[in-house]
Amino acid sequence: MALCFDLDGTLGHFEGGYALLRAALGELWGEEPTVEELSVCKGSTDWEIVDELHRNRFGEGLEAAHYHRYDQACLAQFTAAFGVGLRQPVRHDGLAEGLVTLLERGHRLWLVSGNTPGVLAFKAQALVLDSRLEQVPSLPHRNRADLLRLAMEADPGPHLYVGDRRHDREAAQEVGMPFLAVGDAVPGSPKLSPDAPAERLVEAVAEHLR
Ligand SMILES: [Mg+2]
Repeated sequence: MALCFDLDGTLGHFEGGYALLRAALGELWGEEPTVEELSVCKGSTDWEIVDELHRNRFGEGLEAAHYHRYDQACLAQFTAAFGVGLRQPVRHDGLAEGLVTLLERGHRLWLVSGNTPGVLAFKAQALVLDSRLEQVPSLPHRNRADLLRLAMEADPGPHLYVGDRRHDREAAQEVGMPFLAVGDAVPGSPKLSPDAPAERLVEAVAEHLR
């Protein structure tokens, strides 16, 4: 049974993440993309966003090796900003603890996130998420629905995607997965508060699977 979770806004958040993304690209490209350039990007994953910015700036798509260099530059930015004694991420404690209960009940859990591989691993560790969660980061030439399909292919289901944004629900709809919202940004879906206690997440998952 594959239960998939978005990370940013769902299990916690890292203030100022987009500024770090721009700084990482500034290092690689010699000039940071502007807030406006970033805001018109259509995708919800780092691959999609950086690929679109690259096309707009250089007239051609991103290569996987270049994406890897971006991953490492972005990871260095996050490590410098959120290291010990520096800025702290906000952790949705109840939901993060609920993951442990779900794992102990035999569910297979996936982090399906728009972050690059290095940054997703860093964030999972910084939020002290259970290390048994499997990670599906943003990968070359894949959108968020494609990432959900990777978890679905590895596990016969039933499935569920828990996320905080419309693009999460749209990806879930595209692959036929039920969706559970965290917070108020996705009206019309069953939802949990970011501050919900662990038991509420466990109950909500049980309701979906009933
Ligand atoms: Mg999110």
